[in-house]
Amino acid sequence: MYGKPLDAIGFVKEFDPIVAEMMDREFTRQKEGIELIASENFASPAVIAAMGSVLTNKYAEGLPGKRYYGGCQFVDELEALCIDRAKTLFGAECANVQPHSGAQANLAVELAFLQPGDTLMGMSLANGGHLTHGSPANLSGKYYNVVSYDVDHETGLLDYDQVRDIAKKNKPKLLIAGASAYPRAIDFQIFADIAHEVGAVFMVDMAHIAGLVAGGAHMSPVPYADIVTTTTHKTLRGPRGGLILCKEEFAKKINSAVFPGIQGGPLEHIIAAKAVCFREAMQEDFKTYTHNIVKNAKVMAEGLLEEGFDLVTGGTDNHLMLADLRPMGISGMELQTRLDANHITLNKNAIPGDPAKPSVTSGIRVGTAAVTTRGMGAEEMRRIAQCIGMTARDFEGTADEVKAIVADICKKFPLY
Ligand code: PLP
Repeated sequence: MYGKPLDAIGFVKEFDPIVAEMMDREFTRQKEGIELIASENFASPAVIAAMGSVLTNKYAEGLPGKRYYGGCQFVDELEALCIDRAKTLFGAECANVQPHSGAQANLAVELAFLQPGDTLMGMSLANGGHLTHGSPANLSGKYYNVVSYDVDHETGLLDYDQVRDIAKKNKPKLLIAGASAYPRAIDFQIFADIAHEVGAVFMVDMAHIAGLVAGGAHMSPVPYADIVTTTTHKTLRGPRGGLILCKEEFAKKINSAVFPGIQGGPLEHIIAAKAVCFREAMQEDFKTYTHNIVKNAKVMAEGLLEEGFDLVTGGTDNHLMLADLRPMGISGMELQTRLDANHITLNKNAIPGDPAKPSVTSGIRVGTAAVTTRGMGAEEMRRIAQCIGMTARDFEGTADEVKAIVADICKKFPLY
């Protein structure tokens, strides 16, 4: 990566050793473990430094040049730069860099285009969609009339004919494509055609694949969608935050939905970190990084298949895969807990049509963005897949060996 992060923990320790000790334990966990959570990554020291800066002191409600507070001349420049970089990186007409998170970005779009009771269509949570795409547990599911599409439960693949049929029947005002747990490429052109056929605004939530899109390792939704939302902290490897890209005609609506619609003051320290992240993502080595994420995912998928796991859709086109654990006779919850004990971190995940409760699940989700950031390659992917297999088959008998392999890999590929 790009050097070492500043010694924030040491600095905090001077005043608050209790908090510093907790931060330190988390840092140690990150350094000494293998991170396979598909939505996580390791931000660069420059991104982390921008986040931990004096910019947090500034209130700047409004947009650059149109603020409700004085003293915004420097954060205006910074936010304008961040907007420009976002537009350049993704080839978008307009950008709002203020959403505090991916969920905020999605709710802002929904507020901009829907009235309570209007129809929203997205992928169901149980099949890989996100909470904000209309889950009954989320505001989106409570305020809007939600119709969901699933993946085909046999193949695990998106069934575009089913999406078209549901859209024609229900005429959603907003159609959402994008997922938290879909291992294959999504064809945004087909989704756009469907949205146009039924007169829906078409939004893509590219949170998981934003880095792959920036690096050219996944089709970009930007030419096809009216609105694109994303987080900035997953494959894009920036600070924890959100971003909305849109066509010029929607910019005003989007800007006012973010502020004053759902947020107050923007987090200028996070916006600075987003600007740094976008610059990093424009570099040649970021392209290589994103292609390596996908290569590593393919090797990991082969390794898991060799270990006897069943993979939803049989493999992966992106940074993640979903393993169906039923042939191994173990739940997602149990395997997640066992792997945690062996210093391998991932999450239990429902598989399409999962008979198990969401708190238990029959699957796990495995992602390669973070391990690729540490520089790991094919050999490590194979060893990690073996460790997951050993842990699933014989946890007690193999725990020492697995922990030793994890320690060896982490030593060879230090974090920062
Ligand atoms: N959209 C998708 C597809 C996601 O996977 C996630 C988070 O995992 C979000 C939105 C929400 O992002 P955040 O956690 O920043 O609110």
